[in-house]
Amino acid sequence: MSYEHELQVLNPATEEVVATVPATTAEDVDAAVARAATAQTGWAALAPGDRARLLRRFAATVDEHIEELARLEVREAGHTVGNARWEAGNVRDLLDYAAGGVERLTGRQIPVAGGLDVTFHEPLGVVGVIAPWNFPMPIAAWGAAPALAAGNAVLLKPAETTPLTALRLAELALEAGLPEGLFQVLPGHGPVAGDALVEHPGVAKIVFTGSTAVGKQVLAKGSALLKRVTLELGGKSPNIVFADADIEAAAAATPMSFLDNSGQDCCARTRVLVQRSVYDRFLGLLAPAIESVLVGDPADESTRMGPLISRTQLDRVRSYVDPNAPGIRGKAPEGPGFWFPPTVLTGVEPHARVAVEEVFGPVAVVLPFEDEADAVRLANDTPYGLSGSLWTRDVGRALRVSRAVRAGNLSVNSHSSVRYWTPFGGFKQSGIGRELGPDALTAFTETKNVFISTEA
Ligand code: NAD
Repeated sequence: MSYEHELQVLNPATEEVVATVPATTAEDVDAAVARAATAQTGWAALAPGDRARLLRRFAATVDEHIEELARLEVREAGHTVGNARWEAGNVRDLLDYAAGGVERLTGRQIPVAGGLDVTFHEPLGVVGVIAPWNFPMPIAAWGAAPALAAGNAVLLKPAETTPLTALRLAELALEAGLPEGLFQVLPGHGPVAGDALVEHPGVAKIVFTGSTAVGKQVLAKGSALLKRVTLELGGKSPNIVFADADIEAAAAATPMSFLDNSGQDCCARTRVLVQRSVYDRFLGLLAPAIESVLVGDPADESTRMGPLISRTQLDRVRSYVDPNAPGIRGKAPEGPGFWFPPTVLTGVEPHARVAVEEVFGPVAVVLPFEDEADAVRLANDTPYGLSGSLWTRDVGRALRVSRAVRAGNLSVNSHSSVRYWTPFGGFKQSGIGRELGPDALTAFTETKNVFISTEA
């Protein structure tokens, strides 16, 4: 199969061309790996305090460019400007947090007879980060910041549709004083540039975020080299509303739990499970909340939901929704742009495609359940296990259900699931490994054990 030599970046709200960017070839990847390996040697040899200082300077440089990065993300990805500012700020925070770990990446001293036994966290070398288009900046930084802090070089392959903020971040890294070659961005096609990173013997680890189908390919191909792989894949997360919950609060929080980023969020709570005794009341409260979500120009400060990323994604979302199916629908602009209205489907069979597959659009289903056991059974009845929420006033139930749902990130009476200082990742087919949190740096190291004899 042949691929275009250039990537065309479209504004998803208008379909206008924002930029064209040369696509990285497999030969370019070879050269980038060689440059990165050279840069990494010098970077790992720096005193920890100097590495930390450079990363803090990178964070400060990003901070000075938050508005510029945010406006670029609005244009290339259609993110609402408020979200885009948060995303750029998240990059700054991730760099600051990772910088704080450099001097704390300590090994252990383990008692042994006849000498001293110590462990070291050695950097892996060159790390490949393959990022998706749904959160181009944060997901790039989830991999890059701790990898750099642990003494690695990073090659970032952004998604085809969203290379611009990544390229700008690489410029800011140089401006902040990071060595040339240490953090390179390789925009390109997944099966070309992404695949070349996965197959390259000089790349020690791949951090992949994207679809489960491609994630499985990355794991299979990487296994030929026993490559370290972290996978953050899809989700079909439940939002479980028990009859004893604050139903008003649960209904008010539901729209943005799956409409944020136009539903293009692996943690989107797209399976709303509601105890049958409060089902009608909940839907009565949910309808006006959905209908009032303002969908439109993402550059407008009051907009809460923008367009989908691309025509491909719009067609994919449409394929899941029968226009005549019963439910609740919001409004979306007509005309150019990849628009789809907020949609809640009712009367759906629990095993219908839309109820079990990741739609990655502003579409949720509402399913009734009878009791706690039924709620847990339904919540676990998908191949995914990324996130989930539950709404209840019973603290015992909150803990029981949090432990019983097979997912990596649960929230009670809230939909929050991602903080850079807490671990994040999936059970089952939602992924392998964890990112973020206190152990983020060690995921980019190999533990080395050294014994020094005192007998010689
Ligand atoms: P994708 O998995 O195709 O792309 C993700 C990244 O992988 C991109 O950078 C892409 O260029 C790269 N890639 C693609 N093929 C590759 C290959 N053979 N080798 C190496 N890298 C490769 O995802 P998509 O097509 O952008 O989106 C499709 C679906 O994936 C979405 O509808 C959604 O269900 C899911 N998705 C999930 C997330 C998430 O955060 N978990 C993010 C984006 C997409």
